[in-house]
Amino acid sequence: MSLALARKYRPRRFADVAVQSHVATTLKNAIANDRIAHAYLFCGPRGTGKTTLARVLAMALNCENKRPDHEPCGECESCTRIWAGSTSLDVVEIDAASNRGVDDARDLRERAMYGPSGENHHKVYIIDEAHMLTREAWNTLLKSLEEPPPHVVFVFATTEPQKIAQAAAPVLSRVQRFDLKRIGPADVRERLSTVLTAEKVGIEPDALGMLARAADGSMRDALSLADQVLSLGTGDITASRVRDALGLVHEDEYVALLDVIAEHRAGDVFASVGRLADFGIDFGLLLSGLADTLRAQLAIVLGGAVPDLSDHLREALDVRKERFASGDLLRMLTMLVEIEPHFRRSGQQQLLFETLLVRFALLDRTIGLEEILRGLDGPGTTGGSGGGGTRREPPPVAAPRLSSPPMMSDAKRISEPKATAAPKVAAVAPVADSAPVQKKKKTLDLNRLAEHWDDVVEHVRASGRGMVASALNEATPAAVSAAGVVSIGVTSDALADALQSGNDSIVAALRSIFEGVEKVAVKAMTEGTSAVRPRLTAENVIADRVATLRKRDPMLNAAIDALDLRLIE
Ligand SMILES: [Zn+2]
Repeated sequence: MSLALARKYRPRRFADVAVQSHVATTLKNAIANDRIAHAYLFCGPRGTGKTTLARVLAMALNCENKRPDHEPCGECESCTRIWAGSTSLDVVEIDAASNRGVDDARDLRERAMYGPSGENHHKVYIIDEAHMLTREAWNTLLKSLEEPPPHVVFVFATTEPQKIAQAAAPVLSRVQRFDLKRIGPADVRERLSTVLTAEKVGIEPDALGMLARAADGSMRDALSLADQVLSLGTGDITASRVRDALGLVHEDEYVALLDVIAEHRAGDVFASVGRLADFGIDFGLLLSGLADTLRAQLAIVLGGAVPDLSDHLREALDVRKERFASGDLLRMLTMLVEIEPHFRRSGQQQLLFETLLVRFALLDRTIGLEEILRGLDGPGTTGGSGGGGTRREPPPVAAPRLSSPPMMSDAKRISEPKATAAPKVAAVAPVADSAPVQKKKKTLDLNRLAEHWDDVVEHVRASGRGMVASALNEATPAAVSAAGVVSIGVTSDALADALQSGNDSIVAALRSIFEGVEKVAVKAMTEGTSAVRPRLTAENVIADRVATLRKRDPMLNAAIDALDLRLIE
């Protein structure tokens, strides 16, 4: 490859910016009608063509060969220079990430005072990453935007328009804003396919799908990834070549993990993950691959269509659709999304990934126990144990045994004989750590606190303290004293301040869920200790609950003994 694909195939005309045709057409019409705005704001995710569009606009405004269709010719010296991003008298590209201050803005304003080099030219300033400009820089630029010099056009490009709104709201009324679309996998596939055909390189459909998915909405990334694959060999692009080049995990590995979950083989998690770790895989990729697979499985269970799935994977998931209830898959996806922010920052990704899989594998057991606990909490809190269940077939191992201990239910709910008839595992029953606040308060201990941390966060959020809730979400329950003092660990002063300011709302939230809460103390923790919350260890939660059960109701000890044995199995 002499020239990177992304560069070689960068559009030279509005018509080539196919995905963003809504913007391209409007801009072309503005040129045709001589109604060019003085400032544009292009918003959109990375790789969606903001800078490319800005350059095509600059080319069209300065092309030496004016064409009747108002497209740039793409071949004259002006077009070529602008297209390549090389220095040009009339087009200046500025990266706001490194020129964000007021001096840079002043410099820019002064340069803008001098008009373009020729009568038919426009001076175009393309300011990339515009959200990085400081408030002062925007204030300096505002004057130029209010009284724009003739034939000067500013094009601001940003991935985060809301930051501009925060730093310089008045700017937004001075610019014409365009929102660029995120590029869908189908568009990426189509474009990739066109480019590779032009390059006379064949590609397997599966390989095309993998590249499109990995590009995640960025056309530039898609082409760079294709470059990466091409640099590793010659001939047609196969799925296995893409996997090798991008370090992707074979989809069969994900299917194998699904089987571990479906068959509740929690003990096998460590060997499976260890084997993947031996390949040196990236756990971030593994986590998002697992999320994609669960999502696809969910769609298939629900009877929906899954675009961009290889035939092989579609078949494998189709075979397994009876093994998963949609509610279980939803819960798993929720748990996965929940740990994602911590995951990215954690130095213990393998451990987090393993614990997550163990939780998935024990999911039914946890719910079975949850059912029993609700039974123990007394009538009125069960909410119909099998209600809303969408399971098509009982899970193969744990649930039927765990969830139907008639003696336990009978002991507590003699007045409701029907309720014990078929205490199926409720597919939409909440898992332990997202259980709604129940009427009966819980005894305060660290495990239970960790497990109900999300409830505490939600309670605080519901009380109107969004900032405090967000801070709480970043914090970790650190200790619970016998006197009822709850210590919350934080890793930054900002978090500590936020929590201190919302101390009363946190205490209120804790008291609504737990009994015996005295007060809240915020403690600084070193980075890293917060990586794994106790709530992530499913076994701890279960062990703790079983211990509580024993204490609370000795009459049921025998039943729990039996249950305990099964759990340990
Ligand atoms: Zn030209």
